[in-house]
Amino acid sequence: MNENLFHLMSQNFPADRSQTVIELGDGKSYSYADLEEISGRFARLLLDKGVVKGDRVAVQVEKSPENLFLYLATQRVGAVYLPLNTAYTLSEVSYFLGDAEPKVAVCRPQNEAEFSELAKKLGVAEVLTLGADGKGSLTAGAEGLDADVGCVESAPDDLAAILYTSGTTGRSKGAMLSHRNLGANTLTLRDYWGFTKDDVLLHALPIFHTHGLFVASHCVLLSGARMYFLPKFDADQAIALLPNCTAMMGVPTFYTRLLAHPGFTAEVCKNMRLFVSGSAPLLEETFKEFQERTGHTILERYGMTETCMNTSNPLDGERRGGTVGFPLPGVEVRVTDENGKVLGVNEIGVLEVKGPNVFSGYWRMPEKTAEEFRPDGFFITGDVSKIDERGYVHIVGRAKDLVICGGYNVYPKEIELVVDLLPGVGESAVIGVPHPDFGEAVVAVATKDGSNEISEEEVIAACKSQLANYKVPKRVYFVKELPRNTMGKVQKNQLRDEYKESFAA
Ligand code: AMP
Repeated sequence: MNENLFHLMSQNFPADRSQTVIELGDGKSYSYADLEEISGRFARLLLDKGVVKGDRVAVQVEKSPENLFLYLATQRVGAVYLPLNTAYTLSEVSYFLGDAEPKVAVCRPQNEAEFSELAKKLGVAEVLTLGADGKGSLTAGAEGLDADVGCVESAPDDLAAILYTSGTTGRSKGAMLSHRNLGANTLTLRDYWGFTKDDVLLHALPIFHTHGLFVASHCVLLSGARMYFLPKFDADQAIALLPNCTAMMGVPTFYTRLLAHPGFTAEVCKNMRLFVSGSAPLLEETFKEFQERTGHTILERYGMTETCMNTSNPLDGERRGGTVGFPLPGVEVRVTDENGKVLGVNEIGVLEVKGPNVFSGYWRMPEKTAEEFRPDGFFITGDVSKIDERGYVHIVGRAKDLVICGGYNVYPKEIELVVDLLPGVGESAVIGVPHPDFGEAVVAVATKDGSNEISEEEVIAACKSQLANYKVPKRVYFVKELPRNTMGKVQKNQLRDEYKESFAA
């Protein structure tokens, strides 16, 4: 059987290929027939450039329908898609190209000269361009080519994509994802979240990341549905389009931005059946405020580049704020201590996962891969978690964000939950910074929401009344905004760096 992801998708495309798959929100749209035709021509061009099964195709371009079709083209020829964050600098790109050794690199037209130079140095055979408007040497070169390329046969373990992790600790690692990983996970999500051909998804996520590229796009493509495919999230535009939509997938910042907009009402959501949040923790406050404002309960799920999606709150059962729900069908999860001992209900440790969704390893890093897998095949996620008595998984933070103060483990989330609820505080991030006595000291960085004037002393006093002394922040800094990346994750590295001198002698 052909396990190629594109083959799986095309089996789920609507029989009537004239149906729309992508709308841009400005009246322009693409049908499933267009998707097959354009991805077919791109696939032909890749073949003409000598791309064979297993070759990497590295892509650093703006989001556009043609960008998505290029991804599908690589699947059709059995190549390995390697998307790169558009924010990466040339020196970062140089590392990825050197490490992954792609046959072809596709870049924005304005970067062609420096990419070509880099490609020559690193032995990348071909550089093509693709602009945000869908134009470039890729589209021009594919013009008029025969689109009838079919789809290559792939085995379940053949690689479909390599996605580099954000590399906040050391070198960025290429997570190798197979056709089976991606296919199995999306079929599960499609069914778990009830996607059908009648769905219209608001897709405003970037497609260089697992959330937008796989979770969001695949749910649409594997159910023959349609999506508004927007280059970025803009609250005004989202509010204008949501009445035509049935589902949205977003990072928590999409939800806070919608709530901050006076035009966001229950009426806007009248045709919506599902709001999904992930990639970063959703504040319980946001979860509740969203419920109050719209009557909808956000469904929070949890995953990572290496594993695709692992857990989700249910479609029909109770969705619990502050949790990431249950393991998805076919996925096993457990919480372990530092020695690998499996912990019980509500005990805090590191989450491990196993299932067809879990990647096969890091590209050309066998030792690193071996370190992160248990002998029985569980992948150690590095996410500090617990599983409650009802089976809901809670993510408490990243293991690397754990603060050790005077020998005691402090889980930032526990303190953030207390600080976030204080009147006057918008949100907070708790970090550890070097301290001459304690090794590390707890520091909170918070925003104000203007509802109440609050001081550093008041935050500390409130924490003292609710938390053991070693968990109480020794300093509280107020900032206008917490630094976040495109996926809405708070950049704790940046905060640790900024406040590292707090207790310097
Ligand atoms: P990435 O590989 O960029 O997708 O990042 C994966 C990491 O994001 C996970 O290991 C978690 O630390 C975090 N993450 C993803 N979804 C959630 C969520 N719903 N709640 C808390 N953290 C999350």
